[in-house]
Amino acid sequence: MPSQTMHTHAPPGPRPVLSGADLAKDYGRTTALHHASLVVDRGESVAVMGPSGSGKSTLLYCLSGVVKPDGGEVLFSGVRVDELSDARRADLRRSDFGFVFQFPGLLPELSAAENVALPLMLDGVGRRDAVARARELFPTLGLEGLERRRPGELSGGEAQRVGIARALVLDPAVVFADEPTGSLDTHTGDEVMSLLVSTVRDRRSALVLVTHDERVAERCDRIVRVVDGRTLTEPKEVR
Ligand code: ADP
Repeated sequence: MPSQTMHTHAPPGPRPVLSGADLAKDYGRTTALHHASLVVDRGESVAVMGPSGSGKSTLLYCLSGVVKPDGGEVLFSGVRVDELSDARRADLRRSDFGFVFQFPGLLPELSAAENVALPLMLDGVGRRDAVARARELFPTLGLEGLERRRPGELSGGEAQRVGIARALVLDPAVVFADEPTGSLDTHTGDEVMSLLVSTVRDRRSALVLVTHDERVAERCDRIVRVVDGRTLTEPKEVR
């Protein structure tokens, strides 16, 4: 089989949208990452698993351009993310990546739809158009009818789905999620994970998700394990 690269003349079929190769990162004397690699295709969801302190978040930050690695390469759509300036990486994060965290961090004084519309408004879209586009995401995430609610009037699972809608509203190529179900009960977490994985797949985006929870990771197409800053890949049947 020919090797897949992101540069030119890639063979047909899945192509990596994002890849990190041989990533290394030290914090002072602590080696957070060394020889960590991860590739994700369009439409694919990859779970990053490992014990606390193994380097999962650092890997996520390097791949998403939050942190500049000390060594290795990050390629996004043919662009060397690790070589971009801080300002260009910030632009890339805004325009091409979506982020979901353990807590959605919604603004309490805005409605659910306005919270989802916020990235569009910050991108220069007028308020009416932005809210209209935000509302289109609500049925997809099982949030129909909740558009006018304030965050304080939403359950934990609903608020997290509003956070996911906000991460998706600019049609990101890659969604990064750090323990997105960490604050939810098991049943609600399962529901949120199903919606996150299926929505990302249907929109032909990609998902890189950090979790320590096997049950959450099992929902993804593939699991990459991180041990002492290194990645061990574990091929998993694509569902
Ligand atoms: P995980 O997400 O798997 O818990 P992290 O990537 O957060 O692991 O951390 C990996 C290692 O790097 C840990 O030893 C952690 O203490 C250290 N580390 C992470 N971020 C920083 C930082 N900003 N400053 C200093 N040390 C850090």
